[in-house]
Amino acid sequence: MFKRTQKIWHKHFLSHAMLLFNNNHTESVIITDSERHILFTNEVFTNTTGYSANEVLGKTPKFLQGILTDKDSSKKLNTAIQNKESITIELINYRKDGSPFWNSFSITPYFNPLGKLLYWIGIQRNITQQRQLEQELLEAKNKAEQLAFTKSQFLANMSHEIRTPMNSILGFSELSQESNDLSEIKQYLANINTASSHLMAILNDILDLSKIQAEGFTLNKKPFYLKNLLDSIQLLYPTTGRSFTLEANCNINNPFLPFLIGDELRIKQVLLNLLNNAFKFSPHGSVKLIVDCEKINVSGTRFIQLKFSIVDTGIGISEEQLKSIFKRFTQADTSISRNFGGTGLGLAISQQLIQSMGGEIQVQSTLGKGSTFSFELPLEISNDAIKNPSLNTDIEQLTLYDNSVFPNKRILVVDDDKMSQVVAKLMLKKLDFGFEVAENGAIAIDLINKKRFDLVLMDIQMPVMNGLQATHNIRKSYTEQDLPIIGMSAGILLHDQMACFNAGMNSFLPKPLDFESLKNELVKLLS
Ligand code: ADP
Repeated sequence: MFKRTQKIWHKHFLSHAMLLFNNNHTESVIITDSERHILFTNEVFTNTTGYSANEVLGKTPKFLQGILTDKDSSKKLNTAIQNKESITIELINYRKDGSPFWNSFSITPYFNPLGKLLYWIGIQRNITQQRQLEQELLEAKNKAEQLAFTKSQFLANMSHEIRTPMNSILGFSELSQESNDLSEIKQYLANINTASSHLMAILNDILDLSKIQAEGFTLNKKPFYLKNLLDSIQLLYPTTGRSFTLEANCNINNPFLPFLIGDELRIKQVLLNLLNNAFKFSPHGSVKLIVDCEKINVSGTRFIQLKFSIVDTGIGISEEQLKSIFKRFTQADTSISRNFGGTGLGLAISQQLIQSMGGEIQVQSTLGKGSTFSFELPLEISNDAIKNPSLNTDIEQLTLYDNSVFPNKRILVVDDDKMSQVVAKLMLKKLDFGFEVAENGAIAIDLINKKRFDLVLMDIQMPVMNGLQATHNIRKSYTEQDLPIIGMSAGILLHDQMACFNAGMNSFLPKPLDFESLKNELVKLLS
């Protein structure tokens, strides 16, 4: 009698479950008997696992677990089942097609009124998406932590990099104040000069990178002469002493390819950066710059593909370090950076510049054997240069004037800062120019009205009348050809420069003045 009642009840229960769990139920349901043999699964279960109810009836749900299922969670589940206790747990199950998914499920024992265990009811949810999200969040968190670490490492490194030249500057200036020996003082000043240039290079790197990364960064594309570029590089690394070779696998003297269109200064910046690294990281080895030319025709325009390879036989870079070598502030390893110095910005800047010029930088390296950094640049051949040979003579003239002097030319230096005045005066003296100094824009205008000048070097920020206002006023009486004006400012961002050009200046030089740049600018504007 009791058995019959139980059987009816059992049937009743299952048909009830079917109605309850199949109709629009959003979770997967498994009902087993007390021994964990499956009696019922709903449609959601079939949709999630790929198993139909018939395929799993009579089996124990354990078959859903697999190799990735966490053993501890599986054990906890078994213990709860043995103790006839309900449990909620997350573990990996497998679909019929073998693919794993994250399952969050609760199983609850179901007893009859006499306390006998009849069923287990399991409700499951596929939480793969949620897990993925958690995983992504974890990765994002790790990335942020990594970035913070790199940043603090960079700051520590940067502060060390800035402190080193600062120590020299402070130390040697103090020493020279105490010394009466002229030759000793001269040596101290030379040391101060070296340290200052180093400091300047670091600041320039930081500024340059932020400028390149800022929106609106533009290349200054102009026709340039490949041979001149390579010559100027060769001059910097004389072949004597350290072993440096330049190998051009194309006829760079080819008269039909005199000019390429590109940003020569930026190309040079990248080359110098990579060459300096090659020398820095090859204390005993040799360095080679190889230039390959390949003509390519892109829809009628004449393009040339230049490939630059910088090959060294230095310390090399490990495979692991190669992965992050182009990242900002990254150095192959901090102990190396301590041995060799540097900020870890050079390669990031180079990569950005090459990419903005349409190329890609690559590196191959073997630890202990050496490295090869290479990049290809597509460059247009200037039609003007081909049609108009006078451009060629421009170049010749430039070199011709390069070492000559302008004894009859007079320059007006307008600057309120005494130190800047001295620097400008010394440089002009070295170039044999005649010059005069005005303390601000108003005095400059006064002088220009009284005397003849051939060019004005104009600071921007000055009391009484600033450089922009002064230029604006001067342009009312003198054109850019009559009286060229070169702006000078420590603010070297694009909008500072634009302000100078808008006011009517011919060109712009960043402060502190660089002797070579000043000389080039004067040659260009006065010849
Ligand atoms: P910096 O040289 O100022 O540290 P870079 O961005 O130019 O910064 O270079 C980053 C790192 O890449 C260097 O610190 C060095 O570890 C590694 N590296 C660059 N060039 C070479 C090279 N030619 N040989 C070996 N390691 C190099």
